[in-house]
Amino acid sequence: MSGQATQPVDLGRLSQLSVTELRGVGEKKAAALAKGEIENLLDLLTHYPRRYLDRTREARIAELIEGEEASVLVHVIESSSRRVRGGKVMVNVVVGDDSGTMRLTFFNQAWRERQLSPGRHAVIYGRIETFRGRRQMTNPVVDLVGDKTGRIIPVYPQSEKAGLHSWDVAEWVAEILRRTLPPRGRGLADPLPPHLLDEHDFITREAAFAGIHQPESMEEVFEARRRLVFDELFRLQLALVLRKRAIERTAIGLAHTVDGPLLDAFTATLPFELTGAQRRAIDEIGVDLAKPIPMHRLLQGDVGAGKTLVAVATMLAAVDGGHQAALMAPTEVLAEQHHAGISRLLDGLTVEDRGSLLAERPLRVELLSNRVGAADRKRILSGLLTGEVDIAIGTHALIQDNVLFGSLGVVVIDEQHRFGVEQRAALRDRSYGDAVPDLLVMTATPIPRTAAMTVYGDLDVSVLDELPPGRTPIVTSWVPAPGNLDQAPGEVVDPDADPDLFAGLEVAEIESRLETMWDEVRGQLDEGRQVYVVCPLIDESEKLEAASAESVFERLSAVELDGYRLGLLHGRVTPAEKDQTMELFRAANLDVLVATTVIEVGVDVPNATVMVILDAGRFGIAQLHQLRGRVGRGAHRSSCWLVGEVTTVDGAARLQALVDSTDGFELAEVDLDLRGEGTILGERQKGRNDLKLASLRRDRETVAAARLAAIDLVDADPGLEVHPALAAELSLFLDPDDAEFLLKG
Ligand code: ADP
Ligand code: MG
Repeated sequence: MSGQATQPVDLGRLSQLSVTELRGVGEKKAAALAKGEIENLLDLLTHYPRRYLDRTREARIAELIEGEEASVLVHVIESSSRRVRGGKVMVNVVVGDDSGTMRLTFFNQAWRERQLSPGRHAVIYGRIETFRGRRQMTNPVVDLVGDKTGRIIPVYPQSEKAGLHSWDVAEWVAEILRRTLPPRGRGLADPLPPHLLDEHDFITREAAFAGIHQPESMEEVFEARRRLVFDELFRLQLALVLRKRAIERTAIGLAHTVDGPLLDAFTATLPFELTGAQRRAIDEIGVDLAKPIPMHRLLQGDVGAGKTLVAVATMLAAVDGGHQAALMAPTEVLAEQHHAGISRLLDGLTVEDRGSLLAERPLRVELLSNRVGAADRKRILSGLLTGEVDIAIGTHALIQDNVLFGSLGVVVIDEQHRFGVEQRAALRDRSYGDAVPDLLVMTATPIPRTAAMTVYGDLDVSVLDELPPGRTPIVTSWVPAPGNLDQAPGEVVDPDADPDLFAGLEVAEIESRLETMWDEVRGQLDEGRQVYVVCPLIDESEKLEAASAESVFERLSAVELDGYRLGLLHGRVTPAEKDQTMELFRAANLDVLVATTVIEVGVDVPNATVMVILDAGRFGIAQLHQLRGRVGRGAHRSSCWLVGEVTTVDGAARLQALVDSTDGFELAEVDLDLRGEGTILGERQKGRNDLKLASLRRDRETVAAARLAAIDLVDADPGLEVHPALAAELSLFLDPDDAEFLLKG
């Protein structure tokens, strides 16, 4: 037997074997698996149980306690269905175990009758109710299980529609393990360096896969999960650290002057002191700027934290050295706002004029967007190329092919989540010179630290965790009334709604709170302040959303805010109308701006002090926080009203979180706890889809440990030459282009 044949199998090999190699996976099952993106044996092996039924601690029907949630293994005794009011189907299933029986009721799930045919075994999970003295569950979670002889039964994600059951998966995985692990198989290779196994006291990869799929005890599951989670996070961090180092290694950057005359003149003219956080961020950035390695830094700061000043200081470092800077914003409105604000901040500053005997000229800031006319555009483009334009502010227009900078030294990108990695790179490439500009990415989306390590793992991070002094915190209230103003409180009661979620409020109480809200709105308007009303979010269609905004506008004009000057903004008004409305509002020629979320980002009107968000339950925490950040920008006391019924416990917790806190980072933690990482990782780039078990929330500490381990390893072995098995595994989990870039460097 050759040496080759006795070597342990690696994950790459498993990924080359199709699921059809397994007994019992025919065309039909293979197609069903493919729908769940499971095509090969590695996909199956990393298709983990979503929970376990521990039969050693299993509940019996007779022991279930009313009001508590429980999981029981039962068999079906009989099932039947009938139509109830409104044409809905109700399925009743009687199930039992050796201690007794209970009833399951399903609404609008007609297929349950077929699924739960007499004799089937299933694990039922739900809240115990009693009805006429008998235990029952309504719409419980159902998992069909096969082999019930083990002490711990893994429950896999399954698809009723695709005809894929938990027991199928368990059987196929068992076959893979049988054929791979000793004594029958060659064993699984373990690419993790032994010192890491030791340091973290990890079990082997073989033991981990066996333990997660076929545990003998929950302790085994725990140890297996601990190991596999580390593997996932370690691979991810390796990729990110490799990318970061590759950029640092290959790119030639500029060593900027960080204490030049412009920066000094600028800070001297500021009418206020920098906050401690701003000073810290500017220092951190300064260290990067002074090095001949291109900076790659993220500036995180809550709305109103003063990111613009930090950006300006960064850009001035480039200009001080005779280079240029560019700031790219995601929308025309934001770019224009930045242009106006930054021009004002830099008004009066002069730069050395290399082309003239006069030796000095005013610092030149230009706006480049798609709305700039052809003649101006030509003039600006030529100024960019000759270097006469020092700072360019714009939108995507900045990264078009005909835009070239003479010597671009610093690039700032605002509101990063709207741009992709490619666009970041595209702006950096616009420079005529060889050097790669330093990059500062700004985001107002607070991200918990460990999550940032993952989402922005290829960037260094500076945080503005302090607001400028003198801000009065925004007072937030929640009115649990329908977000649709035409509807009376309590009129439509969602049958699934938990009555506790209305905070025990009577209809009259809700009405009176709404009254209080509009009273306060009118009071503020009468004092000369301005108000935003955000209309219900309608994901399905911009047209419907616009229609709903129009009806809110009409209703408010006629009823609650009769007599005030209202403006309307939604996705369907023309850019010209939009500009005009914004301009009127900014100039205080409108009292109230009724708008969809088009005002989410960056609008800055300090005189606006009240934010009313209708149907607030439809928005996420981060979005509500962004919207709320549109007020509280001046010296006046500001308030935010969240109007909306919620029908889930999580929905209530979201709104309550906003009532309780104005701290973006705290809210981000709550968001992560409530919603998991979906939202944050939704923005992640390709090649990062390897987190199947790891949770940025539960596994915070492992994220940090994996990051440290990855940094150590890459710094000692930048090309992963000493660790070929790890390198191979990265290629397996990463997009091929990414892998090539990273490993070649
Ligand atoms: P954001 O981080 O949301 O982009 P901005 O940079 O727009 O915040 O700043 C918000 C407001 O705070 C601006 O009006 C700005 O002039 C003001 N500001 C920034 N830094 C300070 C400071 N150190 N002291 C007082 N006001 C400041
Ligand atoms: Mg800003």
